[in-house]
Amino acid sequence: MYISDSDLLNNPTQIPQLRIVVTSRCLHSCIYCRPGGETFPVPFFNEMTPKQIALCTERLVEKGVNEIKITGGEPLLRNDIFEIIGLLNKLKIQHLELITRYIKDKEQLSRLLSSEINILNFSLDTVSLPQWKQIMGNDNLLNYLNFIEIAAKKKKIKINTVILRGINDNISDVNNLITYLQNMGGGTIKFLDYISDIPEYTPSENQLSSNLNFLVDYLEDKSLAYETITAAGGLGHPMKKIKLPGEIEILVKSADAGAFYGDICFSCSNYPCHDAIMALRLTPDGKLQRCLRRNDNLLDIQGEIFHGCEMTLVDKALDTYRTARFHTRNEILQLRQKAIDNEKI
Ligand code: SF4
Repeated sequence: MYISDSDLLNNPTQIPQLRIVVTSRCLHSCIYCRPGGETFPVPFFNEMTPKQIALCTERLVEKGVNEIKITGGEPLLRNDIFEIIGLLNKLKIQHLELITRYIKDKEQLSRLLSSEINILNFSLDTVSLPQWKQIMGNDNLLNYLNFIEIAAKKKKIKINTVILRGINDNISDVNNLITYLQNMGGGTIKFLDYISDIPEYTPSENQLSSNLNFLVDYLEDKSLAYETITAAGGLGHPMKKIKLPGEIEILVKSADAGAFYGDICFSCSNYPCHDAIMALRLTPDGKLQRCLRRNDNLLDIQGEIFHGCEMTLVDKALDTYRTARFHTRNEILQLRQKAIDNEKI
């Protein structure tokens, strides 16, 4: 798929999913995560109130955003998380998902299960305790699995698994996760590649990156059906969606499939980077963040609302996605090679 220039002009269908980072705080320090998780570290005292989060989100929903993921850091660390969920639900969003890796106790789980969240998305890279310890640095796996199993009986759940080279990139690791989900009656697992080209990461962390083609080949062979899909608005990396017996749906997201780049990318020194333009993020302190890796071009939507200005930043943010261009894997490789050659001159 390559989008031609004429398709790019104000394409209203390229509306991104919104990831609301309600906090950048987290209890964990997983070996692959960035400081601040889905955004940059934001001090606790700068986090928006539930009402402010809802006001910012409303501006985006008015412009067509209808897929929202609540994320962090760890969103369940916020004591007012259920107030946030309740206010977001009033905006009549089609898809409201919460991504977590930590549930405090049964009471919190029970409130989550009766909340308006459509999908509970559990980050779970392995069902093996030694691997879990290696990735997470603690031994809380069994407790966490117990909560996932209770949740699966009441809510639609999804599991997010980052494949890490030399840790959980064996077919047997993948099969263990699939069997775990089958035993719960089915569900969705998304396998993600590790984001490998962030310069702040040490070389040893970059060595965790694994190409997921091996997984696609293996799963397609076993599949009942498969197709290629994209995330909200047709953006993000095209993903393989594979149906397996036992009501299992697998998504494989790999940067190897190509990526979208927008107006903020073409003059960026990291262009063409790994993750590219995928989802729009609302930071804990009310900024719109279009790029996972940059905080030099955040758009202060909370400030605009506070000062009663005419809303222009939402359009500016959404234009980045409306006009984003898809690059195939080969195009990305050629651009990278060109950048390397230029550096040598
Ligand atoms: S997504 Fe961000 S880091 Fe990547 S090329 Fe675009 S602006 Fe640069």
